[in-house]
Amino acid sequence: QHYISNIEERNAEVNAVVSIDKDGALSRAKEIQERIDDGTAGNLAGMVIGIKDLICERDKQATCASNILSNFESVYDATVVERLREDDAILLGRLNMDEFAMGSSTENTIYGPTKNPVNTDKVAGGSSGGSAAAVAADFCTASLGSDTGGSIRQPASYCGVVGLKPTYGRVSRHGLIAFASSFDCIGPLTHSVKDAAILLETIAGADPNDNTSSSRTVPNYRQFAEEPDSNIRIGVPEEYFGEGLDNEIKEGIQAKLDELEQNGAELVPIHLPHMKYGIATYYILATAEASSNLARYDGIRYGHRADIKDVEKDLKLEREAITEQIKQAKGDEKVELSAKLEDMDSALIRLYKKSRTEGFGDEVKRRIMLGTYVLSAGYYDAYYAKAQKVRRLIKEDFTKAFEDVDVIVSPTAPSTAFDLGTNQDNPVQMYLNDIYTTSANLAGICGLSVPAGTHSNGLPYGMQFMADTFEEGKLFNAGR
Ligand code: GLN
Repeated sequence: QHYISNIEERNAEVNAVVSIDKDGALSRAKEIQERIDDGTAGNLAGMVIGIKDLICERDKQATCASNILSNFESVYDATVVERLREDDAILLGRLNMDEFAMGSSTENTIYGPTKNPVNTDKVAGGSSGGSAAAVAADFCTASLGSDTGGSIRQPASYCGVVGLKPTYGRVSRHGLIAFASSFDCIGPLTHSVKDAAILLETIAGADPNDNTSSSRTVPNYRQFAEEPDSNIRIGVPEEYFGEGLDNEIKEGIQAKLDELEQNGAELVPIHLPHMKYGIATYYILATAEASSNLARYDGIRYGHRADIKDVEKDLKLEREAITEQIKQAKGDEKVELSAKLEDMDSALIRLYKKSRTEGFGDEVKRRIMLGTYVLSAGYYDAYYAKAQKVRRLIKEDFTKAFEDVDVIVSPTAPSTAFDLGTNQDNPVQMYLNDIYTTSANLAGICGLSVPAGTHSNGLPYGMQFMADTFEEGKLFNAGR
């Protein structure tokens, strides 16, 4: 009831929640209360969780904030949702996002932008902006988001909450609508490091429905957050604190590092020389995978379908017009027109094109075009194949660094939340927001953003810890 009234009071302004299941949540709360009373409740009893609108919940919409899925309801629960239910979480609402998780501001959405609860002239970050804002505005105890290149950590930084991108394969992707399958990770956004640890413990683990999920045992993550050990080695990569980083953020993180050092941590200067290729590599590979993943939205099997009657009518009229022109034409012109008539797309292909034209927003179309281009014959070796090689080099930088340090520290994003609307016409500027986050996805390692301070502009900013694959415990330890 507490969260429902917060949503009713403030969601009209913040726009983090896109649909809410009040009755379902309240009756579930009653049911769980009974289990709490007789001592049989699960680990998450009392936690109210919001879900990014690309993780499937049975009988609920999963729109990806896209017209193409605006009528889509899932017939099954994602594995993470199943696990949340088993542990007695209450699922209250579906959360706003950038369309198909493509973006850094939650402005590419059919629902209108999510606003930053700390200052509603600012973006909440993205693509899990709804998930970060919902936690910051106290619309739920915690939320789930997805992180392909920073989409959990960057909005967490902008909204002043904790955001975890687990190791690739730590959490099942079954029921997560795909953006870039070799990058996508589901993770929690929370008020505290401990809550993130508790949630990871619930959602992590092997799943026969996702053969990239790891069968490694799930540790007691909570213990790392409850009994932090300050005797750790923290790698400080020079490349992450250079040009482009807001000076106050840089100084603020330095102050936190000094505190950690006073408490027993050792700061180790390190180098990650290929970091500078992170953004380029990410935007080649992620768009390539996206163009392939999004080919399934054809308006035939499911999703938005353009009106076939309109398509057939237009086709008929065009055919008649050309046939008429052919009658009047002579010589070359006649040959050309006849060829044009011959080459016209069938009604079915036109339906497919029109459905996708109407269904996808500009940024998604841009990614499909970029991704199709880098995969095309003649360009594949120059872009896609080369980017795969650079991905390996970035991964090797980290492997080497983690021989000497427990965690690596960096800013989460180069600035605090920017004004709504400012980067909308400049996709490259928008992509540069991901400069500190994409490397972890390229390498498959884990990353955690924790609030690090408040800027003189009044906005929060985060700092990021990264750890080697399956070392989330070290993140909770350092983050705490
Ligand atoms: N901002 C990045 C992008 O637009 C990351 C998105 C994500 O992690 N889902 O691709």
